[in-house]
Amino acid sequence: MINKDNGWQVSIKSLYTTMVLGYLLLWIVGLVGYRAFFGFPEEQRRTALELQRSYESLAEVIHINREFLANQTTDYAEWNDTYDFIMGFHTEFLEANFQPETFELLKLNHVFVLDQSQSIRAGYLFDSDAGVLSEVTELPKGLDSNVLGLLLQDTTESSFELIDGQPSMVAANPVTRSDGELPGIGWLIFISAITDDTLATAERITQLELAVVTNAGSYHDVLKAPVSAPFQRTIRCLDSGPVDNVVCLDIDAPNIEMPVLLNQNLWKEFILLGVLPALLFAAILRMIHSPLQRAQDHLQATVESGRMHHIPISEHLRIKELVKLARSHNRMVDTIMMQNAQLKELSRTDALTSILNRRGFDHRLSECWSRLGRNRLSMALLMVDIDHFKRYNDHYGHPTGDMALQQVASTLAQFGKRTDETVARYGGEEFALMVYAQSRDELDQLLKMMHQRIHQLAIPHIMSSVSEILTVSIGAAWLVDSGDWIHTRNMSDWLKQADEALYEAKENGRSQSRVVELTIASFSISRSQTSSES
Ligand code: GH3
Ligand code: MG
Ligand code: MG
Repeated sequence: MINKDNGWQVSIKSLYTTMVLGYLLLWIVGLVGYRAFFGFPEEQRRTALELQRSYESLAEVIHINREFLANQTTDYAEWNDTYDFIMGFHTEFLEANFQPETFELLKLNHVFVLDQSQSIRAGYLFDSDAGVLSEVTELPKGLDSNVLGLLLQDTTESSFELIDGQPSMVAANPVTRSDGELPGIGWLIFISAITDDTLATAERITQLELAVVTNAGSYHDVLKAPVSAPFQRTIRCLDSGPVDNVVCLDIDAPNIEMPVLLNQNLWKEFILLGVLPALLFAAILRMIHSPLQRAQDHLQATVESGRMHHIPISEHLRIKELVKLARSHNRMVDTIMMQNAQLKELSRTDALTSILNRRGFDHRLSECWSRLGRNRLSMALLMVDIDHFKRYNDHYGHPTGDMALQQVASTLAQFGKRTDETVARYGGEEFALMVYAQSRDELDQLLKMMHQRIHQLAIPHIMSSVSEILTVSIGAAWLVDSGDWIHTRNMSDWLKQADEALYEAKENGRSQSRVVELTIASFSISRSQTSSES
């Protein structure tokens, strides 16, 4: 048998494993790639836009506050009463207009009235916690000449400043008559601190969390500056207008979800589209692989033991093709077993006469011997030999001899009809039979009939010394009332006894039978006897 095992081989298991891993890899690479190049940037852009809008609405809230302060400043500055006060006429102006309630209402912390030379004509500080209003004669820290230079113009100006260390809105307006005609004669400055309340209102409106940053120096982005990348927290400054940014806010956007590259959705998609199908593949693999493995183990066992068996077909979930394969295998096993049986039969059949040959006889003899050991039976072993067959052959030719052998064989076959009786060609022109005979009488009848039947064949044999037709001589060893006692006798002695009887029949003139009775008493225990079955 040629065993060519050199080719590249791969197991279904590793094929499947590779496929499943490849599939998973493809999905993860695909999903991450798509997210990195499309989904994630888009989400970032949208989040940045959302943040931008939030910052803008915060800027709007701040702007409204700033406008309010600026408008109030303008109202008070472009007013004859204020004008007259600076001119020195309207001395009760301060008392009439700047009471704690005014500061409370307008949310003011400082008010300064300056004349043309920027000298303080009136100054107030309102402590909103205590509700106390006091007069001041100096400008607060944070309102230096630099800032003043930018604020004190011919128009309304405002900015965010750190006033006495507190982030504040400052608004200044030239003092004119109520018609607003320039030039003015001084300036009115209103200062309003950005308090926690102000921030809380802005937080409510914008959904952002705000904290004032005091060391604002290094930050430059104003609230409305474009948002390029989304950050949960950032620092943005209040636009101080013409002055440097000095008030900035630490802005946290807890309600805005920041995009994450490998977010939960990605893993969910991966599990749904990648892992679940992969598990399904693995389950299918098991369904295909385990029966294949079982079949392979089965075949291996068959090869090792040399015995063929059916592959058991599972009652559970079954793969149609594999079941078909197993059925075909099982049918093949049946065929082979049948052919084996036929071959065995053939190997035990004589080709010329179609009855059992010597090998078949030997097999049946030992079977019969053990049956005789188990049961009480009486059985005769006959050796039948054609008389002067050499002469027959010499005279009539070998082919005619063959035909005569066939005729004798089929005649003898009629005497062994029972399944446990045997008729065989023992060799050459010699036949061996095992037939039941319950009595000597029955045996004698049988032998007589056997001679008669051969006689009836009327095969001419002019060269015979005993008759003009073909005759046989028979030696019979009649084993009477068998039983376990035969285990102490030798099976081959049974054959030998029949052979000796045949010899006697020949010696005595041929065409006759000789019977030797083997009973428990007469069948001598052979010396060489060891085990009759061996
Ligand atoms: P006896 O009466 O003493 O048995 O004499 P015999 O001639 O029959 O005995 P022997 O043993 O001398 O001769 C047996 C012959 O049987 C020899 C052989 O030619 C013949 N013979 C054996 N097998 C076959 C066979 O298959 N075909 C044919 N045609 N002849 C066979
Ligand atoms: Mg012979
Ligand atoms: Mg003979």
